[in-house]
Amino acid sequence: MLKIFLLALLGIAVVISLNHSIKNSNNLPQIKHNISDSTKSKGKNMSDKIIKSDEEWKKELTPEQYKILREKGTERAFTGKYWNNFEYGTYVCAACGTPLFESDTKFESSCGWPSYFEPIDSSRIIYKEDKSYGMTRTEVICAKCGGHLGHVFDDGPPPTGLRYCINSGSMKFIKKEK
Ligand code: FE
Repeated sequence: MLKIFLLALLGIAVVISLNHSIKNSNNLPQIKHNISDSTKSKGKNMSDKIIKSDEEWKKELTPEQYKILREKGTERAFTGKYWNNFEYGTYVCAACGTPLFESDTKFESSCGWPSYFEPIDSSRIIYKEDKSYGMTRTEVICAKCGGHLGHVFDDGPPPTGLRYCINSGSMKFIKKEK
């Protein structure tokens, strides 16, 4: 009788642990899936990286752009140029001009920063684990110039379920005619 009871307990423990691992695999690995995509060169070869000294970047960027792109700063919510911009066009890196996000992947997230469900090409993005401020987040970096753009979260809308939460100050908007 005791044996049956112990076997039943073991069975419950196995089911719980299986459930747990399935749940876990739905979170960050979704972001990691995109990370592995970024190694496949489906777009332009991004090996021609831009490397400049801090002094050079300081000359080229505004103080706000420098703080965000080179020092991983974050603009205050609802203060950037683009959180509420829904015009048709392309968002490019403010430092190197790489096209990063199209307006048709931008959505209203009410978080106060421009939010996109996917980049133009994941090979233009580097993903890095960021454990600052007592949180574990995935940092989003421009692959060409190494500039900090923002973070990506897994609470976005379909089709990807991702939310690329990007500082306005790290980008320039190029308006296009429809
Ligand atoms: Fe860049």
